[in-house]
Amino acid sequence: MQNPLLNPEEKEIVLEDSLRPESLSEFIGQQKVIKNLSVFIRAAKKRGEALDHVILSGPPGLGKTTLAHIIAREMEVQIKPTTGPVLEKPGDLAGLLTNLEDGDVLFIDEIHRLNPIVEEYLYSAMEDYKLDIVIDSGPNARSVQIDLNHFTLVGATTRKGLLTAPLRARFGIDMRLDYYDTELLQRIALRTAHILQFGITEKGAHEIARRSRGTPRIVNKLLRRTRDFAQVDGLDAINDTIADKALNALDVDKNGLDDMDVRILKAIIENYGGGPVGLGTLGVAVGEDKGTIEEVYEPFLIQEGFMQRTPKGRVATARAYQYLGVKLPGGKGG
Ligand code: ADP
Repeated sequence: MQNPLLNPEEKEIVLEDSLRPESLSEFIGQQKVIKNLSVFIRAAKKRGEALDHVILSGPPGLGKTTLAHIIAREMEVQIKPTTGPVLEKPGDLAGLLTNLEDGDVLFIDEIHRLNPIVEEYLYSAMEDYKLDIVIDSGPNARSVQIDLNHFTLVGATTRKGLLTAPLRARFGIDMRLDYYDTELLQRIALRTAHILQFGITEKGAHEIARRSRGTPRIVNKLLRRTRDFAQVDGLDAINDTIADKALNALDVDKNGLDDMDVRILKAIIENYGGGPVGLGTLGVAVGEDKGTIEEVYEPFLIQEGFMQRTPKGRVATARAYQYLGVKLPGGKGG
């Protein structure tokens, strides 16, 4: 039973947590990542050592937080989660690090947003499990070294390009999560419906999967909204007809593109004749940070064949023209 005192955002977090796979074998997709992680975890356990530090990168909603929790569970250790922006002062980090037991996982989400001063303290902690802290100030200031337990830092980021070289170099395990194909997302939809104890047909799951922008978090969200429509219509299972009705009502595009995806394609085609256009210019045109376009939107548009990356800039493909119903100018855009 859900706590009625939670606000909508907190409810969302509780729901999201309840849907997380709990072991490597339960995790759907990302086969290569899972296979390698499973080797590294087994080896570390055999040696009786903490797992090497892990950096997980990729667009939002693909399972980075879930994997961090799975790593801790498989290593049979505790996980202490935090996020980059929360660690404002070195003292905040010191407090967390000194409370870690041997082998524990410190999970820092949005690690690219760490304060540079805090980040510097992390270097020796990661490398030698030592923390140098300065106590007192002025002429009395002195540095004290604290020995830490051997821990594993798991960092997650949507913007790996923003990590500094020294921080990046300190992660022994570097894993990138990719968008999921429709078949995998369909399996995730079936699994989620099972956990929520609501019926779903294969076709219903397929309809939600193919319109979820390659992202498990979106599958779970659209599945819950579709369930609302199904229940109001007196159905006890989601089929493709009700899924289509619900997703249309929610303005979810047939190809799973979201608002920003469409704006980006429109800008390239309508403002810049199909490209090539530089990322910075494109960012200004659509009112989005250029780094976010590069790391969150562009990979999906390229994977789905709507956009190409050329040395001169971004180019809309024939598929983008077709999708927006714009006539392809002779010889361009394909
Ligand atoms: P991220 O940290 O990358 O933003 P999360 O780990 O929070 O993403 O995942 C978002 C939601 O999607 C969670 O509810 C999680 O259970 C679900 N999810 C992510 N990856 C998978 C997967 N491979 N199989 C099943 N569910 C997944």
